[in-house]
Amino acid sequence: MSALFAPGRRANAYRGRLAPSPTGLLHLGHAATLLTAASRARSGTLILRNDDLDQQRSRAVFYQAMLEDLAWLGIHWQEGPDIGGPYAPYSQSERHPHYLAAWRTLRNSGFLYPCKCSRRELALAAAAPHESDDEPNYPGTCRPLAAQPLSESPTGQNWRFRVPDGESIAFHDQHFGPQQFIAGKDFGDFLVWRRDDVPSYQLACVVDDAAMRITEVVRGADLLKSTARQLLLYRALGLQPPEWYHCPLITDDNGQRLAKRHDALSIRALREQGKNRELLLSRLLDPEREKSKQF
Ligand SMILES: [Zn+2]
Repeated sequence: MSALFAPGRRANAYRGRLAPSPTGLLHLGHAATLLTAASRARSGTLILRNDDLDQQRSRAVFYQAMLEDLAWLGIHWQEGPDIGGPYAPYSQSERHPHYLAAWRTLRNSGFLYPCKCSRRELALAAAAPHESDDEPNYPGTCRPLAAQPLSESPTGQNWRFRVPDGESIAFHDQHFGPQQFIAGKDFGDFLVWRRDDVPSYQLACVVDDAAMRITEVVRGADLLKSTARQLLLYRALGLQPPEWYHCPLITDDNGQRLAKRHDALSIRALREQGKNRELLLSRLLDPEREKSKQF
């Protein structure tokens, strides 16, 4: 079985979003993606969303730094946690009722089952895969063979989405072209809720992008596989998926993906070193930049 997930015709104008997590300083890798998102939204609406689901790692100081760094990059948004807008609140920590409603829909439709596997295995699920390696394939340990009675609330248990094994999930990426992943092979049953009552990145992202009427999601290429997972959530929730534009990842001199541990490459540090913003921006947006990694 194969399904091509194509967005329907949209009468509405472009709505894009920036969705950084306030768990560290923005660095050059983020900047490239954020600038691309801003550029693609220039004739539409740009939304800033504060992806602060991970309350243990999110810090107000990083949220403030995010606002300052985005301003320094010359990025302006029309809706966000600092200015409000028609789809407020724009901080994920304030959107719990939306996630709970989605959990309930999925539960009632038979897509979910509780998972009793160890905390260690599951610790990464609330963080965007940007922040860590992609979620490992779940071996199906807790997947029930037959329907079972389920609790009325997700609290206190981990919950997984049962993927349709063997189904090909295909979509068109605006940058990388046709993409295809096989459910049950390229990714397994994935977490939608943690026992500490935090929805997973996958669920929160879909719920918010749909609620905020996002027409195109621009993000890093490390999330291509997450897009396949999220398309299954869109379908299960009866929601219209957006279009997708994944950005090539910037690597350091050793070919390692830039991460928050590269403190020297934070926007803040470059700014404090007096780096020229226009030069930085022109290099980040230069399609040849992958050949010249010196900033
Ligand atoms: Zn399990």
